[in-house]
Amino acid sequence: MSIIKAPTDTPDSFRNKVSSIGAEGARNWIYAKKPSGKFYNARTVVSVLLLAFLFGAPFIKVNGHPFMLFNIIERKFVFFGMVFFPQDFYLVVLGLLTALVSIFLFTAIFGRLWCGWLCPQTVFLEMLFRKIEFLFEGDGRQQRQYNEAPMTPGKFIKKVLKQAIFFALSFFIANMFLSYIIGIDELKKIVTDPPAQHLVGLFAILIFSFLFYGVFAWFREQACIIVCPYGRYQSALVDANTIAVSYDFKRGEPRGKLVKIDPKRSATETLPSRGDCVDCKQCVDVCPTGIDIRNGIQLECVNCTACIDACDAVMTKIKKPKGLIRYTSLNAIREGKFKWLSPRILGYAGVWIAITSLFLFFFLTRPMTEVLILRQPGSLAQKQANGEIVNFYLLQIVNKQAYDVPIELKLIAPDKGQITMVGEMASVPRIAEKTGRFFLSMPKDALAGGDVNVKFGVYSQGKLLKEVDTKFLTTTLN
Ligand code: SF4
Ligand code: SF4
Repeated sequence: MSIIKAPTDTPDSFRNKVSSIGAEGARNWIYAKKPSGKFYNARTVVSVLLLAFLFGAPFIKVNGHPFMLFNIIERKFVFFGMVFFPQDFYLVVLGLLTALVSIFLFTAIFGRLWCGWLCPQTVFLEMLFRKIEFLFEGDGRQQRQYNEAPMTPGKFIKKVLKQAIFFALSFFIANMFLSYIIGIDELKKIVTDPPAQHLVGLFAILIFSFLFYGVFAWFREQACIIVCPYGRYQSALVDANTIAVSYDFKRGEPRGKLVKIDPKRSATETLPSRGDCVDCKQCVDVCPTGIDIRNGIQLECVNCTACIDACDAVMTKIKKPKGLIRYTSLNAIREGKFKWLSPRILGYAGVWIAITSLFLFFFLTRPMTEVLILRQPGSLAQKQANGEIVNFYLLQIVNKQAYDVPIELKLIAPDKGQITMVGEMASVPRIAEKTGRFFLSMPKDALAGGDVNVKFGVYSQGKLLKEVDTKFLTTTLN
């Protein structure tokens, strides 16, 4: 089979290839230079805060419940200490829709700010794994030389040690990740109990450990370029007014190597007109996705700002103003004035305001106690020796409040009838669901033939929480 190669000699030919994939389809390993500068320092501070939150949040408890929990298995979710039950599923759907529209709006204005500063993939890779690699094997160029050098016992030990640390870190991240799903208490049990008691949990930890290890030790920028759906959507979300890490081609072009001026000849010599870009390729060397930002906005760019720092350092050295590469929009470079309010942004903002208001309304008015009363499935009406008819019911109460709620069940209509609880149902513990059962017996004279509608009231300290309508069957087997 012959491979059809895309043209490589046109101004746009960089768009025909992925910098980290060779012409034959093999991986081009990116040996990114270690970034340094104002933006890298700021990103480090943000990453430290994020990592502290990410690794610390599972240990925080609010009213005895985790601060954050995404227990898909038991359908229990806790966001910032607020507990959501399956009954709140409509809020989860609305919340996700709000998040989706927020992403559209945010990305249309600020581009991939999320990718460069907040995405866990970038934070883990750039701030943990790559820093360890720099520590073991030096800067990008040294790493390349080290990898190309023949294997020695010392190099082998160093490589194994680095990979072992990578795996240990991935194992730790997998544990933390799982603690967001099952809670830190369950995770502690998996860690401390005999392994045979938690085979499924251990298996899940191992799967996630190998997955994270594969992504951070090997797959790296490919996850952003090939797999991440958010990255794939960029071309639809951004436009010429979007703020992104951009090269100021008006100021930088025509690029050219720095020319040393001979003071003896400069009076007569005509120097070629040059832009500020000295074509040093520092911005390319430092890029973790291996692209050249001077080609314009590209799908591979995760807006990590490393090229801004690299170019600012060069500009400082050659005594030119910083910001040849900076956060700006294509139109701002072309026209010299920045404009971000477009009809598209206004449209997104309108939808965002509507959906966020809807979400806030439902969130703030969500019932804090949910009551469900059903006839016990499979049960029929029973006739007692005294002639009364009895129905068996199931009562389920969800208490979303941070305190226990005392409960009293009363029959509102018809006025004749006796409720008998089966088991204890005097109160529902805080942030919990409790299920009980009860009998309702009614005298024959209250049942004017056929099934009747009944209305129950669930009260707490005299206050009506909810009225529930259901049926009382009168048809008995005997
Ligand atoms: S770092 Fe700046 S000066 Fe050097 S090649 Fe990149 S844009 Fe040009
Ligand atoms: S082009 Fe610049 S901002 Fe984009 S990924 Fe490369 S170094 Fe980061």
